[in-house]
Amino acid sequence: MKIFCVAMNYVEPNAEKKRLTSEPVFFLKPDTALLLKNRPFFLPDFSNNLQYELEVVVRIGKIGKCIQQKYANTYYQEIGLGIDFTAKDLLEHCRKNGLPWEISKGFDSSAPIGDFLPKNKFQNIQNLNFRLLKNGQEVQKGNTSDMIFSIDEIIETVSKYYTLKIGDLFFTGTPLSVGQVQIGDHLEAFLEDEKMLDFFVR
Ligand code: MG
Repeated sequence: MKIFCVAMNYVEPNAEKKRLTSEPVFFLKPDTALLLKNRPFFLPDFSNNLQYELEVVVRIGKIGKCIQQKYANTYYQEIGLGIDFTAKDLLEHCRKNGLPWEISKGFDSSAPIGDFLPKNKFQNIQNLNFRLLKNGQEVQKGNTSDMIFSIDEIIETVSKYYTLKIGDLFFTGTPLSVGQVQIGDHLEAFLEDEKMLDFFVR
């Protein structure tokens, strides 16, 4: 399975949705990035600035290629939350030196995900609130209506380049106010009122 992650997909609430690129920008993480069942995340020793990015995730339920936006919604039935952990110091180093930035995003356990819910549990998946608590304090919140590229547009673009297979995951971008984690931190994430993630940093 593949994990696609969209970058730069949120504006501040009520700000103008300006597209800086004609297509969504995305990258991949390997399957070894998955961290399941609320297992603890072990802070890697190669970074001194490990940051959370809470993101809505959809799981592909049907194989597809060159999917048109209007049919994209038939390719996923499940929605959940995940964290796109990022070694910000490595990312900055790679960007500054014009290097590929995989290592800052695709390392082991960099993609914790929770259980998924049927998407038809919600009236409109492009209007969902989600939030992250760190040690009981809200540190990040977003609404999927603030996405610059909708989930269906993302699927249209990605499927031009990659065949989608059952089980592939789409991380759809993070809203503002990402932040750093430390050993001992407790992270909890909610999609509307449903708790989707609950784990510790070790
Ligand atoms: Mg991200």
